[in-house]
Amino acid sequence: MYGLVGRLHQVALDCVAPSRCAGCAKSGGALCEACVDAIEATPVPLVSGVRAAFVYETEVRRILHHGKFRDCRAALRALAWLGAPRLQPPADALVTPVPLAARRAHQRGYNQARVVAKALAEFHQLQLHDLLERTRDTPAQSTLDRSARRENVTRAFAVVAGARAMVAGATVWLVDDVVTTGSTTAAARDVLVDAGAARVEIAVLAAVV
Ligand SMILES: [Zn+2]
Repeated sequence: MYGLVGRLHQVALDCVAPSRCAGCAKSGGALCEACVDAIEATPVPLVSGVRAAFVYETEVRRILHHGKFRDCRAALRALAWLGAPRLQPPADALVTPVPLAARRAHQRGYNQARVVAKALAEFHQLQLHDLLERTRDTPAQSTLDRSARRENVTRAFAVVAGARAMVAGATVWLVDDVVTTGSTTAAARDVLVDAGAARVEIAVLAAVV
């Protein structure tokens, strides 16, 4: 388990390359000290069905927005490390990200949820596995209303063929970057349960409340 010093060291390492804070645009690093302090001072949001480290607002929203629409993985990793102590995984869980539609992963070059899942797995010293895949490209959830979102993600996921034996009987910690209505994470969880997972818990870095 890493302490505060370890986490700040990790944030510092991640801040070497970028020249502007993703939280406030101040020049210096991926995430400035003032933003780290502000983020660490925020309360853990209460949302049903998922564990969320932060509310999706102010610095957190800006960092996740940068991470999604610009290549700002360093700030995203730093934020995930700040959120990791707030997200307690079930014992011996396999950590897996909600997969991104192949088309969007290709455009962006990486899956934001996977960056978060990898940081959480490292912090809690758990194994990261890509257990799920998208079965079809779906329109971005942000373009749809609530009922359309639920319809959009139904049957959008499948367990990766080679991972079925691993999922059976397993405890899975399913990770996403941001949760809005919860329909995406719920659909992904249902697929894991259908494949025989003994327990699935959902953790997200930030929740829209
Ligand atoms: Zn800042």
